[in-house]
Amino acid sequence: MADLNRQRLLNLLTIPGNNTCAECGEPDPEWASCTIGIFLCERCAGLHRSLGTDYSRVKSIRLDNWDTDHVKNMEAMGNEKANALHEKHRPAFYKKPTRSDPPILHKEWVNAKYSRKEFDVVDKQLSYTSSTKEGILMKRGKDDKKYNRRKFILSRSENKMIYYPKDTITSSTKPKAEICLDDINLVFVPDKMQHANGMQISYLLKGSTRNIFVYTDDSKDIVDWYLAIRAAKLERRRIAFPDRDEKDLAEDLTQDFLMEGYLSKMGPRNEPFKRRWFSLDKRKLMYYEDKLNPFPKGERFIGHRDGGFSVSMRAADVRVPHGYTFTLHMPNRDFILCAETREDMDQWICALQRVIETPLTPQDTKVASQLVHKRHESFITMKK
Ligand SMILES: [Zn+2]
Repeated sequence: MADLNRQRLLNLLTIPGNNTCAECGEPDPEWASCTIGIFLCERCAGLHRSLGTDYSRVKSIRLDNWDTDHVKNMEAMGNEKANALHEKHRPAFYKKPTRSDPPILHKEWVNAKYSRKEFDVVDKQLSYTSSTKEGILMKRGKDDKKYNRRKFILSRSENKMIYYPKDTITSSTKPKAEICLDDINLVFVPDKMQHANGMQISYLLKGSTRNIFVYTDDSKDIVDWYLAIRAAKLERRRIAFPDRDEKDLAEDLTQDFLMEGYLSKMGPRNEPFKRRWFSLDKRKLMYYEDKLNPFPKGERFIGHRDGGFSVSMRAADVRVPHGYTFTLHMPNRDFILCAETREDMDQWICALQRVIETPLTPQDTKVASQLVHKRHESFITMKK
């Protein structure tokens, strides 16, 4: 009987939808929740286990014993059917995490879906769906590098997020910054900040990218901020483009980095290579002296191939003692860059090529004009 049950279970894995993890899409799941009736990868099985057996009972597909009732439950449900049920009213701004997302998003996803049942009812009123949100975030100081308690307020009607130089405010306290939500980007960066709940907020300030680094000790709290900002941005897009599909509008509410890491960069007049932290987002290549700097030391818009952008593996005339050199060609300058490993170089070239091959959107053109404008200014200043 045990063999027969196992065979019935293994047969289920060949059904489309069951061959990837129900939560994150990782292929070849080895685990299952026998009470919910879904197949899971190892990481998501761990998250289900921490929900407690009232919500989910986790078993190994191959190593545990399966009784007939549990197998029947798996046959009756399966990943697609179970997700249609448990994600029925997931708001479009609530991104389902993928394999590459950091652990915090996976943890809060599973908690929201099963223990808090946030997707069971239409338009459930939650902390991230209300039109304003206030709270304290731990923010890294611009100069002192320490994290301090700072008051943040999000207002949908004013389309902005404000933060203050203190954690308590009176009517006379002046904000430190007012950030327009149209320009804001959010990325969870636990490794970079060395904090599991670390989030990078970026926006454009006078034509340059400005970063602030924040966290809260409670993972739900920081994810709520992330969701509240995504919700506010989607609502604005919905008003601006009422005929467009909501799923399309929610597509790039926030943009993860395409690549980040150390590269060495040669100066514009062939000065020696300097090691810098590079970040590539949708179309901007930024470099920093330190990875947690509030402003990049330099940033360039990466345009389309037709605009004179390309990448090549060369720099034969440049003497490099260590590393793997490649060149990013731009209409008015070549960037000679040096990766520390062959693998790093391949990944950077691949990521840059993908950007260069992607056609420009109207939003990209807007970003380009803001950054280009700044470059023109410095050019004019130089000529004086
Ligand atoms: Zn998974």
